[in-house]
Amino acid sequence: MKTWIKNPKAILADNAENGIVIENDKIIELIAKGQAPSSIIDKTIDASELVVIPGLVSTHHHYYQTLTRAYRDSLDKELFAWLTTLYDVWANLTAESLYISSKTAMAELLLSGCTTSADHHYVFPRGLENATDIQVIAAKEMGIRSILTRGSMNLSKKDGGLPPDCVVQSEDDILADCERVINQYHEAHEGAMIQIALAPCSPFSVTKSIMEKTAVLAKKHNVMLHTHLSETEDENTFCEKMFGCRPIDYLDQVGWLNNKTWLAHAIHYTNEELARLGKAGVGMSHCASSNMILSSGVFRSIAAEQAGCKVSLAVDGSASNDHSNMMLELRQAFLLQRLHNSSAISHKNILRWGTLGGAQTLGRNDIGELKVGKQADIAMYKLDEIQFWGADDPLAALVICGATRADKVMVAGKMKVEGGILVDVDMEQLRKDHRTAQRALIGR
Ligand SMILES: [Zn+2]
Repeated sequence: MKTWIKNPKAILADNAENGIVIENDKIIELIAKGQAPSSIIDKTIDASELVVIPGLVSTHHHYYQTLTRAYRDSLDKELFAWLTTLYDVWANLTAESLYISSKTAMAELLLSGCTTSADHHYVFPRGLENATDIQVIAAKEMGIRSILTRGSMNLSKKDGGLPPDCVVQSEDDILADCERVINQYHEAHEGAMIQIALAPCSPFSVTKSIMEKTAVLAKKHNVMLHTHLSETEDENTFCEKMFGCRPIDYLDQVGWLNNKTWLAHAIHYTNEELARLGKAGVGMSHCASSNMILSSGVFRSIAAEQAGCKVSLAVDGSASNDHSNMMLELRQAFLLQRLHNSSAISHKNILRWGTLGGAQTLGRNDIGELKVGKQADIAMYKLDEIQFWGADDPLAALVICGATRADKVMVAGKMKVEGGILVDVDMEQLRKDHRTAQRALIGR
């Protein structure tokens, strides 16, 4: 089955003015200006009113947090106070609420044009030991390409950490489950729809020992490593007190300073520390909305990229964003980075970081670009809403005018969104289920 996405209004690809041809899950041909496909086409999608880009890639999220958006008690706080308010709420997560909240986050991501998403789930209260299994089920049902990171916390308040006892697990339990879910779910092949990465939560919620052992396990199974690092100045102070060094030294000591690691936030480091991160080829998830809401700081995108780091964009958890709309996140990153980097930033950097940069950060060379041989992960936008009226450059308009919803979204050649609606999800039922789960969790 060959499909020609024909004559796009604009496309984020070179020599593809007349569109692209896909067969099954792959892009097989780019059609240059004035050209036609070289083989017989089974189906044509008229893209003359559509802006076509590679599907967006979000590299950091916490799906369960869709249940605690705009949570009253955590409003207007900075990271540590925000976390300590929410840990006790999240401790009551159940299998059902994780399933519903994960599906909800994935639905919102897909509708915005995101085709690959990495989730960082680190809350495993008693009764939710199989959280990763639940997320795999949800991801398969929704059809979004997923990197599910098996998070962990094992340093509670009594040992000098931030989280309460009720949300941490033992080192043995964590490592055994990490190995189990890699063996059970991780796909290493090209076009993988489900991958597992390992993700101890943050320096203030895990021990040094689990960071070290997780790195050994990841190396043994050739999977990626992920964690929150250098998010706030409070974290620097914590690391110096607890470990006698700054976060980047800590990362080095535990065997994580390499190109299989990607970091959420990565804001507070010196130039010398940034050079070390760049030399190691570490990836970074820039979460602009979250960093602004929690007053965390400003990610140095251009400097990070020049140092050699892989730069990507991400929505972060829905309790510190508080949406999961990846295209809106691109706009937020554009605005914040324009303010801090001036003319070095254009919509082109942002679109690249939101697609190819995300793929590179996640260690994927089969997605993130509209090129022959890549996966057919494609987002298409209609610029007919009022905010686009009068827009000249269609690709710039996506970011600057603020696209919120894709018209069509394809993952591995399968249409998941058509006419701005998810093709195989009962959204009214999902909304009701989400409301029920949220009430049960927060008690109001
Ligand atoms: Zn996060």
